[in-house]
Amino acid sequence: DKPSYKWQRVLLKVSGEALAGDHTQNIDPKITMAIAREVASVTRLGIEVAIVVGGGNIFRGSSWAGCSGLDRSSADYIGMLATVMNAMFLQATMESIGIPTRVQTAFRMSEVAEPYIRRRAVRHLEKGRVVIFAAGIGNPFFTTDTAAALRCAEINAEVVLKATNVDGVYDDDPRRNPNARLHDTLTYQEVTSKDLSVMDMTAITLCQENNIPVVVFNLTKSGNIAKAIKGERVGTLIGG
Ligand code: UDP
Repeated sequence: DKPSYKWQRVLLKVSGEALAGDHTQNIDPKITMAIAREVASVTRLGIEVAIVVGGGNIFRGSSWAGCSGLDRSSADYIGMLATVMNAMFLQATMESIGIPTRVQTAFRMSEVAEPYIRRRAVRHLEKGRVVIFAAGIGNPFFTTDTAAALRCAEINAEVVLKATNVDGVYDDDPRRNPNARLHDTLTYQEVTSKDLSVMDMTAITLCQENNIPVVVFNLTKSGNIAKAIKGERVGTLIGG
């Protein structure tokens, strides 16, 4: 008998910033390897893992729009392409330690990855493969957090695990206020009404409407990714 864990299928969101670590070349291979190892440890337990990667370590559309005549849509498409680079890097790292991994992109780039096909993604997961969703939702003016919420709902994953560089959601900025307190749990309502910068409003609303809990946790602490995926207490849990 398989031991039962809190979640059977999870959606792990890895931001671009988290992938960068303190490496000068945008991606820190120590971090992608740590992610790969921890994901491997839980797929061995039979938990299905889908990943949405961000691109902020390479290009963030909103900060470039307006620069040299770049319109927001063009900037955002460049941002989406950045997520594809991260996805391919992460896939190569995972496969180097023997985890079968598929990348699916929200717009076609058939030479480098599969197109996003929901049923196919689910099939991969059922076969124990890790699926990495790249290019966000494929539309400008959105974020990869929204992609995480949307893909989670589409593939019937049970939770969005948002891996960041901080321990969770604080009541104030912990870098400026040493007395800032970490929230163990929060309601969606508290996140939106207090304007806590957890996810953008589109993403958090999508989670709320579909009753998808969100766990915000620190991926730089060794063991945290595996803990979060296994449903152990880590970071801040946002829910009903
Ligand atoms: N992006 C987009 N549509 C999407 C997802 C992402 O236009 O559905 C673009 C947007 O420009 C964004 C960039 O891709 O700034 C990188 O994604 P994001 O900022 O969400 O990455 P993260 O903050 O997780 O590193």
